[in-house]
Amino acid sequence: MRVYNFSAGPSTLPLNVLEQAQKEFLDFAGTGMSVTEISHRDKAFDAVVREAESLVRELLNVPDDYAVIFVQGGASTQFAAVPLNLMHGGKADYIVTGNFAKKAWQEGKIYGEAVKIGDSSDKTYTYIPDIDSLPYSDDADYVHITSNNTIFGTRYDRFPKCKAPLVADMSSEIFSREIDVSEFGVIYAGAQKNLAPAGVTIVIAKRDLIQEPLNICPTMLRWKVQDENGSLYNTPPCFSIYMADLVLRNLKEKGGVKAMNEVNVYKAGLLYDFIDNSSLFKNNVVEKFRSIMNVPFVTPSAELDAKFIAEAKKAGLVSLKGHRLVGGMRASIYNAMPVEGVKALVEFMKKFELENK
Ligand SMILES: *Cc1c(COP(=O)(O)O)cnc(C)c1O
Repeated sequence: MRVYNFSAGPSTLPLNVLEQAQKEFLDFAGTGMSVTEISHRDKAFDAVVREAESLVRELLNVPDDYAVIFVQGGASTQFAAVPLNLMHGGKADYIVTGNFAKKAWQEGKIYGEAVKIGDSSDKTYTYIPDIDSLPYSDDADYVHITSNNTIFGTRYDRFPKCKAPLVADMSSEIFSREIDVSEFGVIYAGAQKNLAPAGVTIVIAKRDLIQEPLNICPTMLRWKVQDENGSLYNTPPCFSIYMADLVLRNLKEKGGVKAMNEVNVYKAGLLYDFIDNSSLFKNNVVEKFRSIMNVPFVTPSAELDAKFIAEAKKAGLVSLKGHRLVGGMRASIYNAMPVEGVKALVEFMKKFELENK
């Protein structure tokens, strides 16, 4: 039996996509081979990459002067790729709003002066610093943000308007809400939260920014090289790209990002409304920065948290344990989590609250 999987990543995928992948697993597009067996230079696979790219462009309304590439190494490799492609003047600003934001900043420091201009660790990352009053550097090559903070359950309600190009790690929210790509110099996102199995990372980058990577930038991390080769400079993560393509097709059929955002807001609303009116459960995030993808919550004690997680699992609601840095619970309710899954969670929480007063 399939459970409702609230894992933060790798995470649940649309059931119809999994079924389609299963159906065509042994014979992909009439090739008589699995998509995991054919050459990445085969026409049938090239069609997959090109379709996935064009769906990203269409669904996010990506302007033509932006590259859309599929790369490997997860979002964590992009923590290095960002400075290696962009840090010409040797300086960049970072807003540290969580664990991944901090890792990105620390990686940036390897390559140059990475200035932490904002930090919300004083309140365990339960808010986003006021983006209008941060000390942006005049000579920064870019400003790096993490738009949705997977572990702490916050997101930017709007984005900084800064002089330097804005670079955003959108790993845990890409395709969940409408964005204006032209506000950003670079967007990157590991796929395993909201798009596909682990193994592929999307980079959307304004082409005029990526023409001169630093000399020390490895060829594989040069966005320009990946762009010029249509994401086929070397063997790409074929299966993950194929799955991303199926998920993107599915998203388009469901009405695209706007329609998906409406469902996401509804799902998150169900959960936050219940938590805010609960005498047992609590969410500590400042309301306007609440993520609609990752919802952390706690009971008054670690023992009760553990009991909740164990009993929820028995009820088919799995992977609700919070990140080891924060404890408690976290429900990741990405695009692929059906409304019924969130409703089932809320019903279970209601019952648990009554039984554990
Ligand atoms: C999961 C996550 C990462 C790390 O992704 P990897 O693919 O494991 O490197 C980075 N940033 C954010 C916001 C994430 O949610």
